[in-house]
Amino acid sequence: MLIDTHCHLDDSSLRPRLEKVIAAARDAGVDRFIVPGVAPEGWDGIAALAVDRPTIFPAFGIHPMASDRADDRALARLATLARGAVAIGEIGLDYLVPSPSRAVQQVAFREQLRIAVSAGIPALIHCRKAFQDILRILREEGVGRIGGIMHAFSGSVETARECIGLGLLISVSGTVTYHNAVRPVAVAREIPMGSLVLETDAPDMTPEPLRGTPNEPAFMIETARRLAELKGVPLEEVARETTKNAHHLLRLRSGHERG
Ligand SMILES: [Zn+2]
Repeated sequence: MLIDTHCHLDDSSLRPRLEKVIAAARDAGVDRFIVPGVAPEGWDGIAALAVDRPTIFPAFGIHPMASDRADDRALARLATLARGAVAIGEIGLDYLVPSPSRAVQQVAFREQLRIAVSAGIPALIHCRKAFQDILRILREEGVGRIGGIMHAFSGSVETARECIGLGLLISVSGTVTYHNAVRPVAVAREIPMGSLVLETDAPDMTPEPLRGTPNEPAFMIETARRLAELKGVPLEEVARETTKNAHHLLRLRSGHERG
């Protein structure tokens, strides 16, 4: 069985049909879900999703695009929520957007990374066009003590290796199935299976051949198949290895009991 290490099941396009989404995922072989936070107002909804659903694992964080909301009150709340979370995320830097400013993003990222380090839980990291700064901050804050996942990794093979050197895993998303994909394909080929995990980023980044519809965890099987094809290994090996990596980093309790 596979673990979707990054899916926004609390999103309004998935939440109303959640039981169907979970059932479809299980039929496709995806039976555990990490749901990351993007802004403080969504945290209660994510915590609620995990109640009585032992296969949903909450993470909490403030996305770089919402980093102007990382005030003292939100950060204090995050430190409290960290105790019931498998990770802090998604946090990071996004230089494709003009605001919040890079300076604001960097402060929010660093503060949240410190919360993850003091809670002793890994970080789910979002990075677009900011790899130099993100690697520097990750190094300065000692991310190696907690580890983390470079979510929907969009960088080069070289950058992926630097991330792995810091103790991070590289997450392969639906972009690896796109016909014009270059970097994701190179990363999937070159990076050893021991450093890879899978995700959907649902409802975004729908893999081929389903592009055009909102993404959901069931569709991750297409990404897993493509990774198996690029690696020249059976799908079962992709499932076994990526699940083992995610399980080990996130210290998930076994899938069907209350933790
Ligand atoms: Zn996301």
